[in-house]
Amino acid sequence: MRETKVTEELIFKEIVVSLKCDFCNQEYKNNTNDNIEIKDITHFTIEPGYGSRFDTDIFSFDICDKCLKNLINNKKFN
Ligand SMILES: [Zn+2]
Repeated sequence: MRETKVTEELIFKEIVVSLKCDFCNQEYKNNTNDNIEIKDITHFTIEPGYGSRFDTDIFSFDICDKCLKNLINNKKFN
């Protein structure tokens, strides 16, 4: 026979509360208590290929939809 009891457990979780676009510095807030993606901003990680001048470098950045659209359309940033 197994005897059990209920205990309270304290759990810490890291939540992203804000993200800033690395191109225009616009800040986006996460007003929830969940670690969901903040919409309107995308995280990219780029690892240039072997032989590139950036070979072995890893670039990581956050970009808002407005700057992403400019990047895709090959326009200048603000
Ligand atoms: Zn931006």
